[in-house]
Amino acid sequence: MTALELVRTRLAESRTAGLPFEVAWPIALHGVDAAWGPVLEDTADEWRAAFENRPPNCRLLALRSIGEDPDRSQPVDGECEHCGRPLPAPAVRGPRRRYCTARCRRDAHVLRSGVAAAHGRRIAA
Ligand SMILES: [Zn+2]
Repeated sequence: MTALELVRTRLAESRTAGLPFEVAWPIALHGVDAAWGPVLEDTADEWRAAFENRPPNCRLLALRSIGEDPDRSQPVDGECEHCGRPLPAPAVRGPRRRYCTARCRRDAHVLRSGVAAAHGRRIAA
């Protein structure tokens, strides 16, 4: 589970338990990878909005437009969809490679999770 998935899951559990955001937020952040601390603190208002099922604000809509812009996210043949480096030689069988490394695949997933959470997708309860 990524850091963002962990935060989202914990918030959903707290909301289901009837806790207010002020109580749920520190619980959600407890023990999360420190690298995410500044990002999560900076987006606390957006997490709160999702927690409270409020509609997305302009900031969230801007993030959504970046994350879902088809011109930006359209993959280029032979390039990693995350970092843009050349893909390794294709496997003989199996699905087309999208990422150059497992790390890129994981980082791309984390990025998508963050955008989804940030643009007001409801937190699953
Ligand atoms: Zn890559």
